[in-house]
Amino acid sequence: MSVCSHYIRRCALVTPCCEKTYPCRFCHDREENHELDRSSVEFIKCTQCSTIQEVSLHCTECGIRFGMYACLECRLFDDQDKEQFHCDKCGVCRVGGSENFFHCDNCEICLKISLIDSHKCRSESGKDRCPVCFEYVHTASEPSFVPSCGHLIHFKCYNLIQRFGHSSCPICMQSYNPPATRTVGNVNGNT
Ligand SMILES: [Zn+2]
Ligand SMILES: [Zn+2]
Ligand SMILES: [Zn+2]
Ligand SMILES: [Zn+2]
Ligand SMILES: [Zn+2]
Ligand SMILES: [Zn+2]
Ligand SMILES: [Zn+2]
Ligand SMILES: [Zn+2]
Repeated sequence: MSVCSHYIRRCALVTPCCEKTYPCRFCHDREENHELDRSSVEFIKCTQCSTIQEVSLHCTECGIRFGMYACLECRLFDDQDKEQFHCDKCGVCRVGGSENFFHCDNCEICLKISLIDSHKCRSESGKDRCPVCFEYVHTASEPSFVPSCGHLIHFKCYNLIQRFGHSSCPICMQSYNPPATRTVGNVNGNT
């Protein structure tokens, strides 16, 4: 089993889709040609005593806690404090402290508190794909932001087009101004 660069945890996920064990879903998705449906994971393997057991907080055999932060719903365990919190409405764990984010029911995504009255609110904008890489923003582990036009974009994709001399939204051509700060809640997981 490969070493995981995404989380520090004491269990591995038993992945029913390919009947293997992986340290985390990112590791799984990198090795396999399919994505792991986390809700399908029913068993985990303790990395200390190797006991395979149902998803829980502590090992039933050796008693070790699988992660300081644990979300059983997301099958997420992490010993690193990233101020993780679970958003019920998003159905994912995000980082950066629940007190710093609110969930916009119209956009259907977690946004920075500072945007509560000022973001361009658009129905289901949180389900948009990034205009540069076409990946979802909602489940991205890298930071994203809401530009003034309201078309969500990943930071790394923004930086990419900046390097090529572009400073406007690829969808509506409105310029990115003022400069971007991270304003969309990203999910737990280092990349
Ligand atoms: Zn991993
Ligand atoms: Zn699989
Ligand atoms: Zn154990
Ligand atoms: Zn969660
Ligand atoms: Zn949310
Ligand atoms: Zn909104
Ligand atoms: Zn992107
Ligand atoms: Zn735009």
